[in-house]
Amino acid sequence: MNITELARRLKLTTSELFDTLPQLGFDIGRRAIKIDDHIAYKIVANWSIYKKQLDAKKIAAGEMAAPVANPADKKTITIPPQIVVRDFAALAGLNVSKVLTELMKNGIFISMNEKIDFDAASIIGADLNLEVLLDETADISGQSDNKLKNIMDKQDKAHLEARPPVVVVMGHVDHGKTKLLDAIRETNVVAGEAGGITQHIGAYQIEQRGQTITFIDTPGHEVFTAMRSRGAKVADVAILVVAADDGVKPQTVEAYHIIEQAKIPFVVAINKIDKPEADIDRVKSELSNQLHITPDDWGGKTMCVPISARDKIGIDKLLDAVLFLTEMEKEKIIANPNASAVGTVVESNVDKGEGPVATILIQNGTLRAGEILCFNNEPLGRVRIMKNYRGEIVPVATPAMPVRISGLKSSPSIGDIVEVVCAGETATGSGKKMRLGKIKKGNFKSATTSTAASAENNASVKFVNIVIRTDVLGSVEAIEEALEKLGTAEVKVKIIKKGLGNFTESDVHTAFAAKACVLGFNAEINHAVNLLAREKGVEVKSFSIIYELVDFIKQKMEVLSPKPVVRKGLGTIKVLAIFKTGNNSQIIGGKVESGLIELNAKIEAVRDDMVIAIGELVGLQSGKQSVVDVASGQECGVEFKGEPVIKSGDVLRVYKEITN
Ligand code: GDP
Repeated sequence: MNITELARRLKLTTSELFDTLPQLGFDIGRRAIKIDDHIAYKIVANWSIYKKQLDAKKIAAGEMAAPVANPADKKTITIPPQIVVRDFAALAGLNVSKVLTELMKNGIFISMNEKIDFDAASIIGADLNLEVLLDETADISGQSDNKLKNIMDKQDKAHLEARPPVVVVMGHVDHGKTKLLDAIRETNVVAGEAGGITQHIGAYQIEQRGQTITFIDTPGHEVFTAMRSRGAKVADVAILVVAADDGVKPQTVEAYHIIEQAKIPFVVAINKIDKPEADIDRVKSELSNQLHITPDDWGGKTMCVPISARDKIGIDKLLDAVLFLTEMEKEKIIANPNASAVGTVVESNVDKGEGPVATILIQNGTLRAGEILCFNNEPLGRVRIMKNYRGEIVPVATPAMPVRISGLKSSPSIGDIVEVVCAGETATGSGKKMRLGKIKKGNFKSATTSTAASAENNASVKFVNIVIRTDVLGSVEAIEEALEKLGTAEVKVKIIKKGLGNFTESDVHTAFAAKACVLGFNAEINHAVNLLAREKGVEVKSFSIIYELVDFIKQKMEVLSPKPVVRKGLGTIKVLAIFKTGNNSQIIGGKVESGLIELNAKIEAVRDDMVIAIGELVGLQSGKQSVVDVASGQECGVEFKGEPVIKSGDVLRVYKEITN
């Protein structure tokens, strides 16, 4: 590029440009006519950052007056003691990369999904012309994408119907939240079915006076706060548990503030009244003195119900109080069951056998097995098997119903609002091509540090660890952004350390300890670093094109990625009889309708075009003989290992998974 052209683009005279370039480390001499294109474009791209650095130097040297911020322009924001960078930027009305740049200038190298504390926020706030105030209980949920509210606002009012209320239990540790949830579950789950709950899925439903109530079964306000901080409004009513022998404690206060901010009605459960030291009046006076909660029998508005979760005393009264509050709020406790489903994730984990499993509380619409769930318009996978809180397979889930979903390709996070975008598609016959191939595995999750942390708990996830060095701040952001998109459910990229400038020996030491490689963007490798890297066997590489760096990481990820598994259909069997049903197995008699059935294959049991169970074919018999295969038209005995739900009339799709 011509020097004059570069000067014009930077709005400088050529003389000013010649003065400036050496300060930026580009000494091309005052007689140069042209500048290398690569350098020129780099300067143009990063000019705003360079300019700030140059101005800062001038201000420090007294050559330029510091800009006086117009106090009128100064924005005041209130934040909690810790805040995710993305939320901070949203609150400040600033671009995330601007906030990240400011953090980096102050030596804080983190991603937009990580948290900063109040001190860091106020330091960068000063540079961003922000007044940052601390509020221990600040509510930042309003900043999140309040998708659910938007969806509800768009519903045709004529289609909105009453739905069961959703209740959350909160309070100080050891005050009896879990015990209360257990007591309610044991006494009020529809008669005869209580013993049937084999697995806690994060929420359950009960019947009280003929009305269904959904309880979030994860006591402690962390989960509730996690959901709220992501914009999810899950609960309609809260129960604040206070132990009668202990009174109002710090987490009681905290829980109350959270309930207040969520603007949901609540009832106080004064628990453990069976204890000799229980003092209900003392609790009531603490509630009114410390929290200004005046019990209704003291002339206030808040219902306080004495209970014993252990002895199941007062549970009925408490549930009646919940129903009373529900009645008062009934115009808000509504949903459109005919819409496509939207819900909030209340529990999520990766099961060794089933893969990603999530419990979703349906908040609007109806979810059907076979539909594809999406988060942020990115498919998470198809709902293969949907179970209610009793562990029964259900074909549909209606508003306020919690369902445990398996079959997803990626695991969502607690508080994610998920929805069916591709409603109407069902998992029909094997001949119909499913859209699963289009689902990008795990691509909705950021691959960098924050999600890496959650993935760390999952031993099956592998990491490509890297240390990054870049020449300018902008490059770090660009690289991070590119890497964010690379993570899959199986392999993630983890940035162990990042910094500006050339590679250092410390980078190599860090990389050695973390089995990482050191990658740079326009960073130089000096002799000492090179020697150390060779000695330690650490790979150090510098790139000048981001895509090459990304490609390099992709190759590293590929080595770690499990090889893609291809499904090869073998044939189908019509179930004619069930000979034996065990805990996790069935002996099935059937007729091969198509294909050649082989031993050690997988089975997908289908009823009414819906997959009801997935398991393994571990034994095969023809007549009384154990065989390795059975051809079409023949009858056979099948030993099925998996959930024993298969009935006569079902169809077994038999297939093998082949690693390419
Ligand atoms: P959480 O931390 O709030 O979930 O509290 P838990 O439900 O785990 O209860 C803490 C302890 O208090 C446990 O040992 C319970 O058995 C006990 N507890 C809970 N409710 C009662 C109650 O009504 N009476 C008595 N005596 N003990 C209770």
